[in-house]
Amino acid sequence: MHTSERIAVVGGGPAGAFAAAELARFGCKVVLFDEKLAWEKPCGGGLTDKAIAHWPFLREAQAERNWISYCQLIAPSGRKVSFPLDRQIAIFSRKVLNGLLIEKARQAGTQVCQERVIGIERTTAGWSLRTTSKSYGSDFVVLATGARNSFGKQFSRRLGPENFMMAAGYYIPGTHQTVQIKFLKDLHGYIWVFPRADHFSVGICGRMQGMNTASLRRILHDSVAEFGLTLDGGKFYAHIIPSLTVNALQRPFSGDGWAMIGDAAGFVDAITGEGIYYSLRSAEQLANALQQNAPEKYPGFVREDFLPELEHASRIAGRFYAGDWMGDAVIERMVQLTARSTRFRELMRDLFAGTQEYSDLRERVYRNLPRIAAEAVVSTVWSPPSDVRSRAAVGQQ
Ligand SMILES: Cc1cc2nc3c(=O)[nH]c(=O)nc-3n(C[C@H](O)[C@H](O)[C@H](O)COP(=O)(O)OP(=O)(O)OC[C@H]3O[C@@H](n4cnc5c(N)ncnc54)[C@H](O)[C@@H]3O)c2cc1C
Repeated sequence: MHTSERIAVVGGGPAGAFAAAELARFGCKVVLFDEKLAWEKPCGGGLTDKAIAHWPFLREAQAERNWISYCQLIAPSGRKVSFPLDRQIAIFSRKVLNGLLIEKARQAGTQVCQERVIGIERTTAGWSLRTTSKSYGSDFVVLATGARNSFGKQFSRRLGPENFMMAAGYYIPGTHQTVQIKFLKDLHGYIWVFPRADHFSVGICGRMQGMNTASLRRILHDSVAEFGLTLDGGKFYAHIIPSLTVNALQRPFSGDGWAMIGDAAGFVDAITGEGIYYSLRSAEQLANALQQNAPEKYPGFVREDFLPELEHASRIAGRFYAGDWMGDAVIERMVQLTARSTRFRELMRDLFAGTQEYSDLRERVYRNLPRIAAEAVVSTVWSPPSDVRSRAAVGQQ
């Protein structure tokens, strides 16, 4: 089969499926390839309020998800804080989220093919994409193949291990309404407990250099009882998360007749590993550029929109995980001040809602420091260190 004036999207995760949906909505002829279609991609599945507010269909869709109202942070010393979120986080099973987006693409007119693309070659007419059974022609190729992007080297610079975090985890039965995040000494990463509609995604991530899945898995096994959970009967998963250096974020992610979006382009927050928002956003920006018949505008749109924020995250990630602030580790201070200062807690709520950017985080902290310090002192003198949330509000933990 050879069809011209077509856009081929390789990868049907959030990035590829949403790009296909948007492009088809604009009237383009789109063919979307995914070898598995909707599947349980290893992930927490957490979406911030910023994402949900930007794409209301994520709230309105008749899809199973868990709305999270509380957060618990645990520092390496064991110091804990729990606090209510003012804007809920939605936690999706990835099979549900991918299914929702692929269906959106299909309804907009995308041709959806469950096939693995094994080769992409330039032709005089555009591109030829080879799958295990056929060849397809297209004028433009969108690479949305995720973190294990097998076409990365062909289209751009190869990424070394310093640009990834390893992740390992389990899906285990049960649920509640609290997201839990535990930081560990000497780990550039964290353990998460993300409760979904009917199970938890419990996992650990860490910088890839000097780390392997087996060592992360061991740490997770040793920690899970602390959350009142057991991994018995859980389904294991492992994957990688892009965590690009500032230098790697400068590599080309589009060119003549092609563009990368989502994890394939490395658009993930290097501190938190949040990538779904950036997958959807890069898909949207590429669709905007293509709709204007100006694909060359895509890198500029990304640079004007979220790339500076990702660069900022990359620049401060090392300091966040291993640096000191006011005489203690940054993470220890963060947990302590979240427990003791209302003003600092507001800032943390905004971070969890996705509305506090890294670019003006420092300025906000220092502007509010006198008030934060005063609240911390008063709280230390007048009340015992404790979770902010009352036990009754904690629900089942
Ligand atoms: C353990 C873990 C936890 C995470 N938790 C969160 C979280 O809570 N919140 C958050 O925002 N982000 C999280 N992330 C990041 C998030 O999962 C990714 O950023 C997001 O999935 C990226 O979407 P994508 O569409 O770019 O890639 P993917 O979701 O990886 O989709 C790529 C798709 O391409 C398909 N594909 C690949 N190669 C081919 C081929 N040759 N032919 C056909 N199909 C192909 C695959 O089958 C896949 O469906 C987490 C990541 C990991 C690993």
